[in-house]
Amino acid sequence: MTADTAQRGLVLVVEDEPAIAALVRLYLARDGFGVHLERDGAAGLAAARRLRPVACVLDIALPGMAGTEICRRLREAGDWTPVIFLTARDDEVDRIVGLELGADDYVTKPFSPRELVARVRAVLRRAAGPPAGAEQPRVVGAVTLDPARRTVTAAGVPIQLTSTEFDLLAHLMARPGRVFTREELLAGVWGYAAHAGTRTVDVHVAQVRAKLGSASVIRTHRGVGYAADA
Ligand code: CA
Repeated sequence: MTADTAQRGLVLVVEDEPAIAALVRLYLARDGFGVHLERDGAAGLAAARRLRPVACVLDIALPGMAGTEICRRLREAGDWTPVIFLTARDDEVDRIVGLELGADDYVTKPFSPRELVARVRAVLRRAAGPPAGAEQPRVVGAVTLDPARRTVTAAGVPIQLTSTEFDLLAHLMARPGRVFTREELLAGVWGYAAHAGTRTVDVHVAQVRAKLGSASVIRTHRGVGYAADA
């Protein structure tokens, strides 16, 4: 297993199917990322802790430890490195995003390696956030969101959001009252077009609402999309 840190940073790929792992490595390396490969879940978790990659690409079904468990343990330890899951089945998606694993994105097998690289770049762009001091904190109802510090509080209580959840809430709170369609949110928050499927928007909105609890400021406009309270 080799690790080389190219100019875009090191991506950890944990995938037990050699052909898929090799393809993912090739495309990420071609795009300027360093790639470290592991085939076993336990070794993958150890590598994530040891190498501090800029992002992790995790298969779900792995020998040793499931990809979901790797993610859960990283989050438990306060590690919010962006994670993209490789799923074998469409019906795993709700489970992945809904488990509070802090997954940032996923692709369903078979996937295009180009698409995966685009997703990795998108999560890194989002995780980087706007330049410090570029934006003032936004307040809607009891929720305060600070784009520079990337923090959210609800009724004064700090709320831990994944980078995707944060960006979704920030996007809505940037223009309170404006109704965004799911397609607009996919393009504006995830950074890619709606062919990925809009269900991921619904699942993430549900997740943000659950975390904000009674302070939630996200309103559903049936048949249209979502808005932050005006
Ligand atoms: Ca597998």
